Amino acid sequence: MTQPQAIHWFRQDLRLDDNPALAQAVQQGVVLPVYILDDINSHEYKMGGASRVWLHHSLNSLNKSLQNKLSLFKGNPIEVLQHLCEKHHIKMVTWNRCYEPWRIARDTEIKTKLTGHDIQVISCNGSLLWEPWTVLKSNQEPYHVFTQFYRKGCLKTAPPRQPIEPVHVSAFKDSESLALEALDLLPRIKWDSQMLEHWAIGEEGAQESLQRFIEQGLSDYKKSRDFPALNYVSRLSPHLHFGEISPHRVWYSILQQENSKNREHYCSELGWREFSHHLLFHHQDLPSQNLQPKYDQFPWGDDPSHLKAWQTGQTGIPFVDAGMRELWQTGYMHNRARLIVGSYLTKNLRLDWRHGERWFWDCLFDADLANNAASWQWVAGTGADAAEYVRIFNPVIQGHKFDPDGDYVRHYVPELKDLPIQHLFSPWDASPEVLEKAGIKLGKNYPYPIVDFKTSRDVTVKMVEALDG
Ligand SMILES: Cc1cc2nc3c(=O)[nH]c(=O)nc-3n(C[C@H](O)[C@H](O)[C@H](O)COP(=O)(O)OP(=O)(O)OC[C@H]3O[C@@H](n4cnc5c(N)ncnc54)[C@H](O)[C@@H]3O)c2cc1C
Repeated sequence: MTQPQAIHWFRQDLRLDDNPALAQAVQQGVVLPVYILDDINSHEYKMGGASRVWLHHSLNSLNKSLQNKLSLFKGNPIEVLQHLCEKHHIKMVTWNRCYEPWRIARDTEIKTKLTGHDIQVISCNGSLLWEPWTVLKSNQEPYHVFTQFYRKGCLKTAPPRQPIEPVHVSAFKDSESLALEALDLLPRIKWDSQMLEHWAIGEEGAQESLQRFIEQGLSDYKKSRDFPALNYVSRLSPHLHFGEISPHRVWYSILQQENSKNREHYCSELGWREFSHHLLFHHQDLPSQNLQPKYDQFPWGDDPSHLKAWQTGQTGIPFVDAGMRELWQTGYMHNRARLIVGSYLTKNLRLDWRHGERWFWDCLFDADLANNAASWQWVAGTGADAAEYVRIFNPVIQGHKFDPDGDYVRHYVPELKDLPIQHLFSPWDASPEVLEKAGIKLGKNYPYPIVDFKTSRDVTVKMVEALDG
């Protein structure tokens, strides 16, 4: 069999379409495509449970696209790559760049080592429209306000590169490759089967989601994206995280559609993804440290029963519980619900945002270090938010506004399904007769609110104001 000429190291680019580093490898001839599960360098940012499930299926799909020639390994990538280069006399390794701090540190070291052994390393941009060091303020400092970053930064610099067509890979499989099952990504207890029903994992599924969104979601995206019971969002986030589709492919596919506010708004949401990566790149401790140091003094609460109630969707606040149960059942939560459950955790239960970040990290299919950390800090008010007031979402008002027929709450909190809409988001306000008619016994088959919304909100506002002295 023909010997491989180059290794392409797949990481967060599990696709053949618009894969610039893979295209470089293909130009050399036969390619040895590898994936290396790295639980060594990731330390506390080791992939969570849901991400591992997604990865299993995504690798399975990629392997099929490569005619079962994807070689799988686990361990320290430098050792695996050096071994493979020596074994097959390979002189080129290609990869698309990743941006989490631990991956940057690891890849820099690997590049130095391989180059020192006379092996050429080619790294490309496959995952961001604007790499974090290319968009800076005129004084060369990073941005901290989204609108400035996106409008004055991104949109005023060179447009993202055009996507490239899928490549045909003539692939070689290494004899020491592990079987997919040996990566041990799937849980022993099958909590994942129900979640998987909601997704088509892999490159083809990603392209189908984009197509569905263009045909059915884009036309009313700007307004309807906030309604969790409606299907107007793209649900591309896990596909983008694992690189089953590139943001370049998405960006230009959207720009091909008729010019509209919806098109503009969708592109700006992709801009938020860029902004999160920008923040993480320039603030490497974003997932663990408050971006605004004054919050280091904030007296977070520490009631474990509150955290448990939040995690399990048993807070007694229907919109919050619906969001948390959606997460558990589907590995996803609609953005509007993420904002509400995040606000409730940090502003009403007054629990440290890092508890929320960790829970999402383990449960979300789209768990992404940059997006998750930046969004949690935004919701908690500790991060890059331009608001000059304490932003606290009222889950009752939000429910009436964004779930006006109650379909979302009724679906995920079925014990409340027979409540009339005026009480659905605040069952504690309903009369005993109304509750009885709907089959609800508060404190028995649905909890009373674990904290009083108004009191907890007022205390938080006072505490935040106290930080400003
Ligand atoms: C507390 C909290 C935690 C979050 N954690 C994550 C996370 O771990 N991973 C993640 O991908 N997103 C996260 N988000 C952002 C956002 O909720 C999701 O990206 C979005 O809901 C994904 O659904 P979609 O693909 O249908 O979005 P669409 O509305 O279709 O948006 C298209 C794409 O734009 C990007 N995007 C949209 N909104 C945001 C945003 N606010 N920040 C960054 N990128 C955005 C995503 O890549 C998304 O796929 C979080 C938001 C909050 C409030």
